Formats: sequence, structure tokens, C-alpha cells
Amino acid sequence: MSFSNLVSDIAFRDSNADERGSTISHAQSRAARSYASTTATSVSISGDISSQLHAGYSHPLTRSWQAERQLTKEMLIFPLFITDNPDEQTPIPSLPNQYRFGINRLVPFLSPLIRKGLRSVILFGVPLHPSAKDALGTAADDPAGPVISAIRLLRARFPNLYINTDVCLCEYTSHGHCGILREDGSLDNAQSVDRISDVALAYAVAGAHCVAPSDMNDGRVRAIKLKLIEAGLAHRVLLMSYSAKFSGCLYGPFRDAAGSCPSFGDRKCYQLPPGGRGLARRAIQRDMNEGADIIMVKPASQYLDIIRDAKDLAQDMPVAAYQVSGEFAMIHAGAKAGVFDLKAMAFESTEGILRAGAGIVVSYFTPEFLDWL
Ligand SMILES: [Zn+2]
Repeated sequence: MSFSNLVSDIAFRDSNADERGSTISHAQSRAARSYASTTATSVSISGDISSQLHAGYSHPLTRSWQAERQLTKEMLIFPLFITDNPDEQTPIPSLPNQYRFGINRLVPFLSPLIRKGLRSVILFGVPLHPSAKDALGTAADDPAGPVISAIRLLRARFPNLYINTDVCLCEYTSHGHCGILREDGSLDNAQSVDRISDVALAYAVAGAHCVAPSDMNDGRVRAIKLKLIEAGLAHRVLLMSYSAKFSGCLYGPFRDAAGSCPSFGDRKCYQLPPGGRGLARRAIQRDMNEGADIIMVKPASQYLDIIRDAKDLAQDMPVAAYQVSGEFAMIHAGAKAGVFDLKAMAFESTEGILRAGAGIVVSYFTPEFLDWL
């Protein structure tokens, strides 16, 4: 609004106020006029009224009011790597402060975090026994395997902890790919979807609150949803789809943690190309139509435009973002090198993801945030 418009607008409001005079005293009306001229004077000094922003964030409270999404403990999901050696607790070299856990180490590790407000974890199975891997990823839904054992244990010991399970085959297949392969080495989509949806159902039956397929096989969300419906579990098991999962360098530390590097080829033919915004939008819409309850974007900070797209396309659904291992490792490396402060950068990065439109963040910083928030 221009200065002259502002003055005439205020004058118009004043004259209306005078006409309604029965409830406004003469003194109040005069005060309103003098306020109008004071406001107009200050505006004329500093420029157009639309440039006046500082009052909105000059006080600590009003600063917090400006946050469309305030980072809270409830938004955070902590990734946990569960291995098949029950007593193991091994640091993951490329992921500072992160470990591979055997089932016997989970409760002692998680108890203090839960006391600090940890609400949610996502489980990744990391079988290390050489015999655990085969072409079909049979170990993925082994009832005695690490993920199903962990679901049962955590449900029993921490009734208020929300348990998400990553659903894929790559940690369990001898070839390291996210599905079942044809003889020529390409993914057999139909067989992969059938197998992945069986694994998801097994996790749901074991007690997982949420199944999150991270393979990118076409049609797996629909297949999982249908099996959950058939099993009478669809009303209480949430389906979070890794809808827009881009290929790239940022999964390096994760592969180190999960031991899921493909033995040949790569996953580029079924993970989205870095510039594939249109494909991401199509995948998001497809997964919404196939029954996903939450749309996930991965990685997060490099794909803020896709998070925004996801929020626009899935306006009425929560959008999750996975702040991947490479993002986490880079922030740690920068802090270690003295380039920036770890805590400040962790907040800046995560709040940037929330500003883009995510309401849920899968983050390796979760234990730190439980202290910081
Ligand atoms: Zn996979």
C-alpha cells in the first residue's frame, strides 16, 4: 500500500468509526486520528508500509510465532540398524555417534533416549551372517530375524514408542538389489512387488505401527495396502512410501552401515535421476493414489523443491523427509573442521527441511535434538 493510499484508507476507517460513534467516545476518536498521523509520518520516513517487517520478529516470542513449523521432538524419527549378532554394538565409522545394534543392546541404548522424549524409530535390518543372504532376500521376513525380533521386543518394552520399519530386500539379497532379479540381472517388478509386500505384511503382523517401502518397484504401495486390508490391519498400520527417492552420492555412509552395496550394477535404474522433478511428482501422485498415508522425500536438504512439490501435491497428507547419512556426515565433518557450529547447522538444516513443507524428519541427529529441544 502506498503512503497516500494508507492515509486515505486510515481516514476512511476514521470516518466510518465516527459514523458508528454511539460506541466510540469522542476522546477515542481523536486518539485514533493522532495515531493515524503518527503512523503515516513514520511510514513516510522509512518507505512503503509493506517494507515494515521488523516488529513481527523483534521479540523472542514473536520470532517463534513466525515459524510455520517449529521443530519438535514429535516430528523426529530415529533410524536404527539392527544386526543378527545379539550382543553387538558396533560404531559405524562413517556415521558419527551411530551404531549397529544386536537385539540385546537395544533396550539399554534406547531407555535414556525414551526418557528424554524419543517418540519414534525406523528399523533397518542388517544381517551379517554370510548365510543370511540369498537371491530372494529370504531373511527379510525371517520370524527370528533382527527386524521382527526387534519389533516384538520394542513393542513389549516401550509401549509408547512408535515403530516404523523400512521395507526392502537390498540388505538381504546376495546381489544387493532392492528386489528379485531376472536372469539378465534386471529387476523383475512383479515378483519383487509380491515379495516386498509379503515382507511388509510380516512386519505389520509382528506389530510394526508403520511399514515404509524404500524399494522403488512400481506398484508396491498398492500391493502392500491390499495385503494389509486383506489381513485386517489396514486401519492401524500406516504406509509411509519413499515416493521420491533420488539416486546420488549421499547414501555412502548408509551403505556402510547397512552393508547393502550392490555386488554388480547400481540402483540408478530404479532410483530417480537427480534432475527428475517430473518423475518425482508422478511417483508422489501415483503413491497417493495407491494408498500411501505419508509421502517421503529422500534425500532432504538437496531436494527442498521436491519436498515443496510433495506438500503441494499431497496437501492433506503429512510429508516426511529423510535427512540422509551423507547430509548428517557432512554436517559433522564441517563442524569438526571448525567451519560451523554443529548444533546451529543441525538446526538450520532441519528447519530448512520443515520450511520446505515436511512435517516429519527422519534424522540421525535425533539423540542430539532430544537434548537440544
Ligand atoms: Zn533397497
